[in-house]
Amino acid sequence: MKRIVSIGECMGELSETGVPGTLSMGFAGDTLNTAWYLRRMLPGDWTVDYVTAVGTDGLSNRLVEYLDSERIGTRHIQRLSDKTIGLYYIELKNGERSFTYWRSDSAAKRLAGDVETLEQALAGASIAYWSGITLAILAQADRQTLIDALMRFAARGGKVIFDPNLRPRLWESADAMREWITRAAGIADLCLPSHEDEASWFGDRDAEATAKRYRQAGAKRVAVKNGPGEISLLDADGQLAIVPVQPAAIVVDTTAAGDSFNAGFMAAELAGGTMAQAASAGAALAGRVIGARGALVPQAIEV
Ligand code: AMP
Repeated sequence: MKRIVSIGECMGELSETGVPGTLSMGFAGDTLNTAWYLRRMLPGDWTVDYVTAVGTDGLSNRLVEYLDSERIGTRHIQRLSDKTIGLYYIELKNGERSFTYWRSDSAAKRLAGDVETLEQALAGASIAYWSGITLAILAQADRQTLIDALMRFAARGGKVIFDPNLRPRLWESADAMREWITRAAGIADLCLPSHEDEASWFGDRDAEATAKRYRQAGAKRVAVKNGPGEISLLDADGQLAIVPVQPAAIVVDTTAAGDSFNAGFMAAELAGGTMAQAASAGAALAGRVIGARGALVPQAIEV
């Protein structure tokens, strides 16, 4: 069946409008960004479902309505009456963005609390996409529940695609982050790390070392992003390939560079492309996304 599920947390985003005393409201999150780009790039016979948990309050309703309006499937979103979605506020200070978060009690932290619900969400999908942020926000027991469900999904022939998206501040410790991320990558058909983060937290000396480490952890294939640097690929046979990236002439905002790359990569593979073609397509999309403000850039998508 032509169905992708993206699993993670989407938050409300509050940002200054420039008019004193008013804020503008949007929705964002790494796995949502990827789902949004996938939805716009994949043909209409594909279903893109978002899997998360939200509340039953007005703000949660607005998020679900937003996803519906973007044609992202909401059937598998759990509604928890005692919770609401996380929020963050973006402040611009001298051109630098700083963030304030209210997410410690968000509904999404419970997205893997119920095995049956997870199984239903995954049933019949061909690809499950998730990230290290999805993993970080969960309680320890729920992390294992989700990994186990994805392992069963993979055993049935589903493909698990994982972006480690290392965010040490979301984890109880750097050691816990390294351990869980390595475990999660081990069940992936495709792992999509960013070398700069990986070098900081795993000490990889170059992108090839990042790719090899994840393959050793069990990921079948790895594509390592490296900002404006080339993409390093390890295929299912362990063959290394390098794909050049055209460095952007102007970088306006790198938000969602990695998320859009991942979507461009997946869409190109689903259209029959090779790993190298998929990496080029991902880099081309991400290169356009960073040329405009914000995470979701409609004009970055070629039609
Ligand atoms: P990163 O997560 O920073 O490695 O970036 C993800 C992807 O965004 C990279 O693989 C590139 O395809 C793209 N990207 C990031 N920065 C640049 C840049 N300065 N110029 C062109 N592409 C970039």
